[in-house]
Amino acid sequence: MAKSKAPIRKQKVKNRSKAKSKVSKKAMKKSASKKKSIPRPKKIIIDTGKLLKMEESIKFVTDVAGEKGLEIFEYLINKGEMEENKLALALKFERANAIRKYLYRLYSKGLVSYIKTRKGSKSWYTYYWSANTQRLVFLIKESYEDEIKQTKKSMELNKAEDFYVCGTCNRRYDINKALQNDFRCPYCGSVLDHLEQSQVIQDKQSRIDFLNDKIDKLLKLVKEK
Ligand SMILES: [Zn+2]
Repeated sequence: MAKSKAPIRKQKVKNRSKAKSKVSKKAMKKSASKKKSIPRPKKIIIDTGKLLKMEESIKFVTDVAGEKGLEIFEYLINKGEMEENKLALALKFERANAIRKYLYRLYSKGLVSYIKTRKGSKSWYTYYWSANTQRLVFLIKESYEDEIKQTKKSMELNKAEDFYVCGTCNRRYDINKALQNDFRCPYCGSVLDHLEQSQVIQDKQSRIDFLNDKIDKLLKLVKEK
């Protein structure tokens, strides 16, 4: 049996290579080099148990889809891909439609995805939903990175502001005005103090450190295999 099939398979291959020859050499070269440069996709394993216990995960998913949404998300993580009606039934939704609202909210952020299939001759689709934990890690990380970026920006502004203040009348002067008056208050003559921005800057720096630490902890839950 296997022997008799062999020539047919060969022929098929031949035909395929013929079809390929129509493609320009340049395009072929391009696709060949592309193939080479793509590394074997790494399998990503996420410690979902720890991820779901993290305060920020709970907050993030709840902000997107409410407590019901969180319940659905957690359920899908634990059970894996699930048919929509079964999911609705398991989570005690009155109608299958009622669960969609939450699924779509989660879907809008990419936290869940679906495939739809038509069974036999039925005219309606069956939806299978699954949770994307990797996406949750990415979104939380992104929100931390955004805050770090903003904090760094405002820190630079703090550094650029160089103010002097009069301890007697509480008036504030920029560096030029202070220089003009030999670092004395032009109103009351008191010696001006340099306004300490350092505390503000320090606070912002520790917020950045805190967020970076959070990102580290988050990424520790992700392992590539
Ligand atoms: Zn003064």
